[in-house]
Amino acid sequence: MIRFENVTITYEDATHSTLRDIDLTVPEGELCLLVGPSGVGKSTLLGAVSGLVPHFTGGRLAGRVTVAGRDTRTHKPRELADVVGTVGQDPLSHFVTDIVEDELAYGMESLGLPPDTMRRRVEETLDLLGLAGLRDRPIATLSGGQRQRVAIGSVLTVHPSVLVLDEPTSALDPGAAEDVLAVLQRLVHDLGTTVLMAEHRLERVVQYADRVILLPAPGAPAVVGDPAEVMAG
Ligand code: ADP
Ligand code: ADP
Repeated sequence: MIRFENVTITYEDATHSTLRDIDLTVPEGELCLLVGPSGVGKSTLLGAVSGLVPHFTGGRLAGRVTVAGRDTRTHKPRELADVVGTVGQDPLSHFVTDIVEDELAYGMESLGLPPDTMRRRVEETLDLLGLAGLRDRPIATLSGGQRQRVAIGSVLTVHPSVLVLDEPTSALDPGAAEDVLAVLQRLVHDLGTTVLMAEHRLERVVQYADRVILLPAPGAPAVVGDPAEVMAG
């Protein structure tokens, strides 16, 4: 579903590659955690899945990244938007509208989906994320956990087969974090979505993961394994 073949990413002016010779596969329908120290290249790796690298960040990409069979070198992020949903670290910077239900519809409007489908999917997503009571609310009046769920919902309405999230719980209190993680787990187990999530607070999330990718140090090979194995190592 997500495949990295011999991937090296180097930013302009950098003396070293941020990621070197990364080979890995995230199979369909798994919740995969991406862990490693700050600055090791987690956001860069996620950016390579959504196509931001190499198209928008100034990073050069050698090797090949494919997502749902599409080569990210020949597909720009907007040509991946129907298969990859991306939720960044800061949900506020993500929003393009003011009201919850408008935000959920926005991605579908960009893809030109029919109004009936859009209405149905907004309802379905409000329910899935426990946001039904907040549909008319200005996003600016929501709590951090509610905003994070709106950010996730805004990409889910497109029904992406892959969802990429950069530390989605880092700004949340434990209760709100658990709500978000439970939603992600449901997406994976009930709908077969593939989720790749960067996280540094491992103890909070490891129980939800099917697989862990560890980037131990800049330029070092990635370690991929089941959560217990990687934690023990
Ligand atoms: P992490 O998410 O693990 O903290 P990042 O992927 O954000 O790591 O960053 C990895 C390295 O790449 C850092 O040294 C960072 O400064 C550098 N980097 C990230 N984005 C860019 C960019 N757009 N241009 C230049 N260097 C970058
Ligand atoms: P349409 O595709 O016409 O919008 P529905 O909204 O009813 O029809 O969705 C069709 C199917 O997609 C349903 O079986 C539903 O379970 C499933 N589905 C719901 N949410 C998602 C999602 N986030 N990703 C993938 N499939 C989903």
